[in-house]
Amino acid sequence: MYDISKVREEFPILGREVYNKPLVYLDNAATTQKPRVVIEAMTDEYYNVNANVHRGVHYLSQQATDLHEQARETVRRFINARSASEVIFTRGTTESANLVVSSFSDAFMEEGDEVILSVMEHHSNIVPWQLQAAKKGIALKVIPMHDDGTLDMEAYEKLFSDRTKIVSVTHVSNVLGTINPVKEIIRIAHEHGVPVMIDGAQSTPHFKVDMQELDCDFFTFSGHKIYGPTGIGVLYGKEDWLDRLPPYQGGGEMIESVTFEKTVFERLPFKFEAGTPDYVATHGLAKALEYVTSLGMDNIAKYEQELTRYAMERMNAIEGMKIFGVKDAAMKDAVISFQVGDIHHLDMGTLLDRLGIAIRTGHHCAQPLMERLGVNGTARASFALYNTREEVDALVTGIERVARMF
Ligand code: PLP
Repeated sequence: MYDISKVREEFPILGREVYNKPLVYLDNAATTQKPRVVIEAMTDEYYNVNANVHRGVHYLSQQATDLHEQARETVRRFINARSASEVIFTRGTTESANLVVSSFSDAFMEEGDEVILSVMEHHSNIVPWQLQAAKKGIALKVIPMHDDGTLDMEAYEKLFSDRTKIVSVTHVSNVLGTINPVKEIIRIAHEHGVPVMIDGAQSTPHFKVDMQELDCDFFTFSGHKIYGPTGIGVLYGKEDWLDRLPPYQGGGEMIESVTFEKTVFERLPFKFEAGTPDYVATHGLAKALEYVTSLGMDNIAKYEQELTRYAMERMNAIEGMKIFGVKDAAMKDAVISFQVGDIHHLDMGTLLDRLGIAIRTGHHCAQPLMERLGVNGTARASFALYNTREEVDALVTGIERVARMF
C-alpha cells in the first residue's frame, strides 16, 4: 500500500485553502487533480522541447514526436492493447464516442438498425446516437436497471434483434458507482455477432483495465479523470474494426497523399487523428499513467474501496440519509450519490462549499438516469487515490451541520 501523506504532497493543489478552510476535494468523478510529475513534464516540454510533431526534420520536432509516440506506447501498455496502432488520441471520452458513433453508423448502420445502450449512460453516450437517429433513422434500445442500481441482464439479452448492430455501455456509472458486468455484456453481444463499445471514463482511474481480457471492440477514456491534463483522451479500437471504419475528420496528419481528385488516408492510428495533436497533453497523460502505475492500480483500487466502504458506513448513519444505487462498497466504484431528507442537492452542495468541501450537484449529465431514480438531481461525493478518512469525516460533519440548518 502507498504512503498517503507522501502521495498528497505530490498534488500541490490539495494543500490550498478555500474560504480560509483546508480544501476537501471530493469532485473527482468530474475531474481529478494533477500530480507534480504531470505539471512539471508539461511545463518542461513547453520550456525546452516544443515543436510540431511528425514529419519535422529538425531536432526539436523529432524530440517532440518521440515523446508523443512514446506516450502512445505508454497508453497501450496501460490498457494492454495488442498494438499502439489501436490507440487513437482524441480530446476525451466524448470525442472518442462521437468518433465511433459517427464512423460506425456511416459504415455499418441503416434506417431501422439498432444500438443497445443502458439507462445509466452519460449524455456523451446518448446524444451522439440520437444525432445519428435523427440523420438516418436508427433506433436506441435501452437496458433497464433494477432498484439496487444494477443492470437488468435478463432484459439486456432480450433486447437483441436481427437489427442490432452495436452495444455501447458504460463500465462504471458516474452517478451510482455501479461497476457493470461488462465482460458478460461483451460475451453476450459477441454471441450475437455484435461489437461493443465501453465507456471507461469512470473505470480507468480506479482499477486496472485490460483490453485483451475484456475483449471489447472499442473503449474510451479521458486523461483529466485519471490525473492527466484536460483536452486529451483515448479511443481504443480493435485494429480490425478501426481498419474498416472511415475517418471521422479530414485534414493534415491523417493523409498519405492528396490530390483534388483523390486522397489516400494514412495508416492507423493516424487515419483518425486529423490536425496537430495535443502532443504536450499526450506527454502529460503518459506521466499520469506512469504515476498511477508506480502506485499500483490494484493498490489504488483497494485503497479507494476501503475509503468508499468507510464513507458509506459513516454516511448511512446520518439521519435522513438516502444513498442511491448499489449498497455494497465492494460492488461499487468510489462514487456516492446521496440525498438528505428533503434538502435540495444544490443547497447541500453550496453550503458544503462554504465549509471548504467540494462535491457535485445536479443531474451529472445523466438525465435519463435521474428520471429512472425519480429525482431531478443528487449530491455526489467522489473519491480519488489521494482522499483520506479525515476528509470523509469532514464530509460527514459538514452534511450533519447542513442538515441541522434545515
Ligand atoms: N462518460 C462518463 C461515464 C463520464 O463520467 C464522463 C464525464 O463526466 C464522460 C463520459 C465524458 O467525459 P469528458 O467530458 O471528459 O469527455
